[in-house]
Amino acid sequence: LLKTPIKEPKVDNLIRPPGKGQNYERASATFAVLVRNHELRGLASTIRQIESTFNHKYHYPYVLLNDKPFSSTFKKSIKSLVSGEVFFEQVPQETWDVPAEIDQDKMKAAMANLKAHNVGYADKLSYHNMCRYYSGEFFNHPRMQEFKYYWRIEPNTQYFCDIDYDVFKFMESEKKTYGFVISLYDIERSVESLWPTTLDFVAKNPGFVHPNASFSWLTENLQNPQKTSMANGYSTCHFWSNFEIGDLDFFRGEAYQRYIDALNDAGGFYYERWGDAPVHSIGLGLFEDRSKIHWFRDIGYKHDPYENAPNSVQCPKGKKAHIPGDFSYGHLYDQNCMANWVKYEM
Ligand code: GDP
Ligand code: MN
Repeated sequence: LLKTPIKEPKVDNLIRPPGKGQNYERASATFAVLVRNHELRGLASTIRQIESTFNHKYHYPYVLLNDKPFSSTFKKSIKSLVSGEVFFEQVPQETWDVPAEIDQDKMKAAMANLKAHNVGYADKLSYHNMCRYYSGEFFNHPRMQEFKYYWRIEPNTQYFCDIDYDVFKFMESEKKTYGFVISLYDIERSVESLWPTTLDFVAKNPGFVHPNASFSWLTENLQNPQKTSMANGYSTCHFWSNFEIGDLDFFRGEAYQRYIDALNDAGGFYYERWGDAPVHSIGLGLFEDRSKIHWFRDIGYKHDPYENAPNSVQCPKGKKAHIPGDFSYGHLYDQNCMANWVKYEM
């Protein structure tokens, strides 16, 4: 048990909430979520918690994206919950749909095969579209172009600790590119050709790889021969992207965008079921300095079935760690690979 619970990053320039009536200049930042009309209740629940733990002090805006038009009920309900501006956006159809270059027969066969091997969502085309959208197109949406940082949220998640500093300004002043809370191993079969495709890209574009990249983390298998799960050299460990805070300029940058082009050319968003989480993670792990990736261990967060529960007075009763210790980071689940980041890159 740590004597001093971890309730915020240990830096001395955290920006506190402004006092009443005080002028406050926000960072160039927004919450962002891709969501469907029928998920209104779930998103409302998440937004209420974001507002009460953090945003009522800062009033950052929200960008809501959908492949279909938002209903007026949806818009009205969300508007009544937020303390900042909210933008409702329909994503351009050509950035959502299956690209014309994808071989439909090959895709259907692959989806059936993955489904037969119990890969979740394998035969759900909209899920593949969603993963591809979040992997690359999301950062380039015209509304997202107005911002430097985004905090991705999702319906039906829980935020249960008060956050008493401006998280976006922390990213800015500490020059962080990416922040995460939970990291997990993926289903190997969903990303079998992702690492070979990645290495092919790297061989053709060696200059994009950062000298302080997180290579050991990505390739844990090479250092840990006991590890049984692996996808052709990639450990499958990734930052769980349903929570993420990122610098859009990194993802809009040359290295990452050319990487996405290569992934689209290979077709694995449809011939396999590449998730946006492993794609973001590999992009960051190869093209960014590992010291710019931050673990927000202080943020209490749950997306079923996993949670990060800091043992801190800032977390309301009943939502503290379930086991003695500083935080209940992912006990009892074998998908948890947080230890790898701590071991190899921190
Ligand atoms: P899971 O967490 O992997 O089980 O996937 P989710 O069902 O939570 O989907 C991830 C995110 O994408 C959530 O914010 C969903 O609301 C959103 N999403 C998933 N599929 C679609 C879709 O077809 N259209 C839209 N607009 N959003 C989607
Ligand atoms: Mn989800």
